[in-house]
Amino acid sequence: MLITHDTECALGILVELLNTAPEVAGEEQLPDVAAVDAFVVRCDIGELDAVGPDDVTAVQRLRGQLREVFTAPSTEAAAELVNSLVAAVNATPRLTNHDGHGWHMHYFAPHAALADHLAAELGMALGLILMAGERERLRRCEAPDCARVFVDLSRNRSRRYCDSRTCGNRMHVAAYRARQRSAADAEDQGVPVGA
Ligand SMILES: [Zn+2]
Ligand SMILES: [Zn+2]
Repeated sequence: MLITHDTECALGILVELLNTAPEVAGEEQLPDVAAVDAFVVRCDIGELDAVGPDDVTAVQRLRGQLREVFTAPSTEAAAELVNSLVAAVNATPRLTNHDGHGWHMHYFAPHAALADHLAAELGMALGLILMAGERERLRRCEAPDCARVFVDLSRNRSRRYCDSRTCGNRMHVAAYRARQRSAADAEDQGVPVGA
């Protein structure tokens, strides 16, 4: 799959955003202007006017819509969601090479509000994944008590857990214990003698 650097960046922001939801993180990670501002800085989202209280509710709402794309039952359903997200915000494709980045496409309308900006950029990134027939790369972490999502960009689509340290470590430990158990089981059964 050919994924350009800016699409990869957008997918990174998408995952970061979805994982701020209260049902994922335990409590709302974007509760107010300060938190949304910090998110904008962390994700290096440019060409934005100052964030206000309206942006907080709009971004929370958008987050729910984006998660629906992730969990859509079919590509048709996901495509419909992406189409309506992108259409609602007057996405405006234009080429740019700002800040020494190579030529790439911006989809958000100039000076769009944060949620509209994100709907255009993240919606298009999701659209590219769907176009490539790679919807299965949009994953939810398989750790039993983890609701985080991630985009599996590994070559063989083998990633099962999110990159939170907890999940990574816990799964290593679980795999190690499972190996020990099956080794112990093999010993208990013993080796058939005189068969
Ligand atoms: Zn850019
Ligand atoms: Zn996880």
